[in-house]
Amino acid sequence: MSSTPTTRRSFLARGAVLASVPAIATLAGGVLAEPASADDTLPDYAPIPPSALGPAVNAQGYFVGRVEKNLYWVTDGTYQAAFLTTKDGVVLFDAPPTIGDNLQRAIDEIASANGVSNKVTHIVYSHHHADHLGASSLFGRDVIRVGQIETKRLLARDNDPTRPLPDVTFETHHTLRVGGERIDLAWLGTNHTPDNSYIHFPDHGTLMLVDIVLPGWVPYNSFNLNEDVPGSIAAPAKAMAYPWKHFIGGHMGRLGNRRDIAVYQQYVNDLIDGVKKALVAVDPTPFFAKYGNNAWAGVKTYQDAQVNYAAAPVIKKYTGILAAADVYTASTAFVILESIRLDLGIGSQIHP
Ligand SMILES: [Zn+2]
Repeated sequence: MSSTPTTRRSFLARGAVLASVPAIATLAGGVLAEPASADDTLPDYAPIPPSALGPAVNAQGYFVGRVEKNLYWVTDGTYQAAFLTTKDGVVLFDAPPTIGDNLQRAIDEIASANGVSNKVTHIVYSHHHADHLGASSLFGRDVIRVGQIETKRLLARDNDPTRPLPDVTFETHHTLRVGGERIDLAWLGTNHTPDNSYIHFPDHGTLMLVDIVLPGWVPYNSFNLNEDVPGSIAAPAKAMAYPWKHFIGGHMGRLGNRRDIAVYQQYVNDLIDGVKKALVAVDPTPFFAKYGNNAWAGVKTYQDAQVNYAAAPVIKKYTGILAAADVYTASTAFVILESIRLDLGIGSQIHP
C-alpha cells in the first residue's frame, strides 16, 4: 500500500468506526510511518463476502443513492447518513465527520438533479457519538437540530463545538413535520448508548437505527462497544416491530433489509448459546492451578478459553455470510459472556 494522501484519507474513512481510535487519529495527523514489513506481520483474514459490499464511491469518496422517493442515503463505504428533500429544504439525518463536506456535495447533486432546494434546514441526531455527528457544525447555527433529551445532556457534558446541542428535544416520541413530510422519532430504551433513537419514515418504508445492526457485517469490536448489552440484544426486535423495507444502520457500505436483521439476531443468539455452553463446559481447574496466586492470569486464560469455545463454531458458521466474522466475533463473545455473568447472573455460584 502506498502512503499517498488519498490512501491515507480512505484508510481513515474505513478505519475510524464507531469510536475514536487513537492510532487512527495519529495516522490522520501523518505522524506514523507505514510499517516497514506489514505484509510479514499482519494476520490474514477470510475474504469479505460480496454481499457485504455496497456501491462504489465516486472520485470524491462518497456514494449517494435513493432509498425511496425523496429519501436518500450517503456513504463513504464505512459510515452512512441520510437526507430527505422537501419543498421547504433538506432534513439531514446524522453528519458523520468521515463523510464531512461530501454531505453537502451529495445533497447538491440530488437537489440540482431534481430542481429542489439544497438548503439543510434540520439535522436529526441518532445518538450523541462524535463519529456520527462530528460534521454537524459544518451546517452552521441557522439549522434546527433535533435529538432525544439524553442526547442533549450528553452533548452538553462533552462540550464539543463540532456537535451543537439539539434545539428541539423529545423524551419518548416526536413527530417531525417539514415541508409536508413526516418523520417519527422514538426512544424505546437504552441500547448502544442511553440516547440511541429509532428514526422511522412511515411514508418511505424505512427505518434508521444506528450502531445496532451493520448490514452484511458482524458488529464492530466488542459488540459495537454497546453500553447496555441486554438493551442492545433487544433492540433488533423493536426495529422489526415497525413496518419498513429499507434499513439504514449508520454503517457500512450498503442499506439493509429485514433479512439482515434476522441474520444478525441469529448470530447474536448463536453466541449467547455458545457462551452459556462454555460456562458449563470449560473446566477452570488447570488455569487456576497453573497461575496460583496470580488470580488475573487464571481469570484471563480461563475466560479466553470460554470465549474461544463459544466463538469458534460461530466464526465457522458465519464466515462467508457476515463479513469479518473471524475479526471481531471473539471480542463480541467476551462482552456477551460478561453480560450473561453480570447482568443475568448465569454462572454465579454461592459459596456453600
Ligand atoms: Zn455510536
